[in-house]
Amino acid sequence: MNKVSARDIPAVDKILSSPALRCLTERLGQEQTVHLIRKAVNELRASVLEGAIEEDPFDPFQWVVDRVVSLESHRSSSRLQKVINATGVILHTNLGRAPLAKSAIEAMTAASGYSNVEIDLHSGKRSQRGADAIKLLKQLTGAEDAVIVNNCAAATVLVLQALAGGKEVVISRGQLIEIGGGFRLPEVFSTAGVFLKEVGTTNKTYLRDYEQATHELTGAILRVHRSNFHLSGFVAEPTIEELSNHPAFEAFPVIDDLGSGLVTDLSAHGIQEPTVQQSVQSGADVSLFSGDKLFGGPQCGIIVGKPKWLKLIKKHPMMRALRCDKTTLAGVAATAEIHLAGRAFTELPIFQTLSISSEKMLKRCEQWVASLPETIRSRTEILRTNSRIGGGSLPHVELSSWAIAVNADSTDQVAHKLRSGKPSVVGRQADDQLLLDLRTVAEEDLQVLADCLVQALS
Ligand SMILES: *Cc1c(COP(=O)(O)O)cnc(C)c1O
Repeated sequence: MNKVSARDIPAVDKILSSPALRCLTERLGQEQTVHLIRKAVNELRASVLEGAIEEDPFDPFQWVVDRVVSLESHRSSSRLQKVINATGVILHTNLGRAPLAKSAIEAMTAASGYSNVEIDLHSGKRSQRGADAIKLLKQLTGAEDAVIVNNCAAATVLVLQALAGGKEVVISRGQLIEIGGGFRLPEVFSTAGVFLKEVGTTNKTYLRDYEQATHELTGAILRVHRSNFHLSGFVAEPTIEELSNHPAFEAFPVIDDLGSGLVTDLSAHGIQEPTVQQSVQSGADVSLFSGDKLFGGPQCGIIVGKPKWLKLIKKHPMMRALRCDKTTLAGVAATAEIHLAGRAFTELPIFQTLSISSEKMLKRCEQWVASLPETIRSRTEILRTNSRIGGGSLPHVELSSWAIAVNADSTDQVAHKLRSGKPSVVGRQADDQLLLDLRTVAEEDLQVLADCLVQALS
């Protein structure tokens, strides 16, 4: 075997001028390409010194070129890209929660250049940022005013700080939750500069607990909707109505953190969840919810409520730090319009997805499996399963459904191949099985998904 020595390692310049890398250099620019070549050359040098090269004959030049291409492909796979969600989890936080409606995407694209985000085109004068989205949110929720910020976590911190900074905020022990990603309410309170005043017990909190805990140092009562866990059995807590209409609680706001933000009724689909409209009607002074959960829009936190309190929020210096981008405002407005027009079930992807019946899911699975080549079809079976809402919403709701189980010697390997394909596919792994849940796969992606599975299994 011819020994490869350090002298055989090609020069960076020579590799850079190789026709094989011309396309890559055009795309990445010289500097980034050189960076990748250096990395590959260093790897080769290390292998040569270790004597770890066993191919014979070995072409160092070709090795470096191939390695550069593979480094680049690895880099580009970590870029944000389209993923086919075959997990059946409708609001998958790691996959970006709510997919947007077509009209929302169009509105966001239209607003992405110069746009009238803070100008009234009629008078030519400066206007309130996001005035259109705010107007639609008022109409939709029945609230007198609205504010839009970065996300619901930001909304929580902002509202507490602006309305109760330096004071006590009363909250039931049954509602002291961790939202996810380590966002825990007691820590949120200290971040917002308010003092936590816990009342009641984990399972039962009464109106009199709130009465006993409130005094002149009370800055607010916070009610947090248990959106990511479920408490049942011997439980009680006062309603928002009882808290909001209590004469002793006039001096400070009653804040309702709804989290998932349902604005279009889903009870026909077995989903009983308090709506934002109910919260507003019950007299909550301020109600908060996420834009990208059951509202079905872009990531943001929506605050609606009484002008007296929202005025303080809008004037707070943190507002400037937490406000959202023009494209988000456009997406919120377009999504609110869909709900207002009663078109959620036909235009919002999450509503379309969660309303597919079990029978329809079975049919979809059967048709899809039938479309697979015989060799692949024989490695699949259709199984009963449950799809979930996810995203910290409706933990007790399971949508009875059907999914495709893929049989393979190594499910990990197939799952990895699917994830690293183009487009990437993320399925659900359970009990040594890989499940593909078609509920969350868009109709137009079904054929692509079939091609991806064929690729991954061959
Ligand atoms: C999800 C959730 C939040 C956080 O919302 P983000 O938009 O993710 O910041 C806050 N409160 C409740 C009750 C939630 O469910």
